[in-house]
Amino acid sequence: WVNERLALHRQAQSHLTQKLSDGRTLRIVERRMPNGYTVGFRVDITELVQATEAAQDASHSKSRFLANMSHEIRTPMNAVLGMLTLLGRTELTPKQADYAAKSESAARSLLGLLDDILDLSKAEAGRMTLDMQPFALSTLMDELSVIVHAYIGAKPVDLRLDLEPDLPLRLVGDAMRLRQVLVNLCGNAVKFTERGNVSLSVQQVSSNGSQASLQFAVKDDGIGIAPEHQARIFSGFTQAEASTSRRYGGTGLGLAISQKLIDMMGGKLELKSTLGQGSVFYFTLAFDLVAEAAPKQSEPNDNPSLT
Ligand code: ADP
Repeated sequence: WVNERLALHRQAQSHLTQKLSDGRTLRIVERRMPNGYTVGFRVDITELVQATEAAQDASHSKSRFLANMSHEIRTPMNAVLGMLTLLGRTELTPKQADYAAKSESAARSLLGLLDDILDLSKAEAGRMTLDMQPFALSTLMDELSVIVHAYIGAKPVDLRLDLEPDLPLRLVGDAMRLRQVLVNLCGNAVKFTERGNVSLSVQQVSSNGSQASLQFAVKDDGIGIAPEHQARIFSGFTQAEASTSRRYGGTGLGLAISQKLIDMMGGKLELKSTLGQGSVFYFTLAFDLVAEAAPKQSEPNDNPSLT
C-alpha cells in the first residue's frame, strides 16, 4: 500500500478518492510543479459521498417499490378483467352490456398502463432481463401487422411493411421485447398521423454468416416533433408538448421503455423529425443467426445449434 501510494504521489498528476478507516472519504489531487515540488489538496467529500449514496438508495427503493406495487396491482386487475368478460357472456340488457363493455375497455387500458409502469421501474431498478430464443422475423412481422392494423381501425392511414429481400429467416433474440418496441413505435406513428402512411422497414446492415445487424425504422407523415422537444421525449413521463396528452392521450412512458429495451439489446434508439412533416424512429441491432438445418425440419423446441 505504501509503495502504491508513493508511486501515485511521484506521478506528475494524481487524482484519487481515499476512504479512511474512520469512515471519512477524501478526494486527493496532486500536481507536480515546474520547480519539482508537489502541491496536493485533500478535500473531505464525506458528506457529498453520503448524500450521493442516500440519493441512489432512495431512487432504487422507489423503483423497487413501483415494480412491486405494479406487480401486486396487476393480480386483482386481471381478476376484474376476467369477471367482466364472464359478465359480458351472461344475459344483459343492452344498457348493462354497454356498461360491462366500457368497464372492460377501461380495465384493459389500466392494465396496459400498469404494464408500462412495471416495465419502466423494472428497467430502472436493473431487474429487467432479456429472454433470448430463436425466432422467425416473418412471424414477428405478421403479428405486428395485425396489432398495428387494429390501432389504425378506420383511420385513413396505410401501413407499409418494407422488408428487404434476403433477410435472415431465423434469429436469436428476445422477440417479445422487440415486438413491444416496434408496437410502441408503430402505435405512436399511427396515433400522431391524421392521414397518410406509416412504414416499418427492416434492412440488413451487415452480416458475417453467424451474426447479422438489422436496422429497423418506423416512419410516419404525421405531426412531427420540434427540434427543442426531440431529446426530452425519451425520458419517462414526458411528452413533446403539454397539450399532447389532452389531444392524443398517453403517458409519455412508451419511448422511455423502448429506449431502455433497445439499450439492453445493444442498440440505440434514434430520431429524425421535421415538425409538420413526420418522424422516423430507427435503431440497429445485432442478432446471432440460427443455422438452417438443411434436410430435416427442426421443431420449435429443438434447441437449434447456432453457427
Ligand atoms: P405517449 O405516446 O404515451 O405520450 P411516448 O413515450 O411513446 O408516450 O411518446 C412521448 C411523446 O413523444 C409523445 O407524447 C409525443 O409528444 C412524442 N412522439 C412520439 N412519437 C411520435 C411520433 N411518431 N410523431 C410525433 N410525436 C411523437
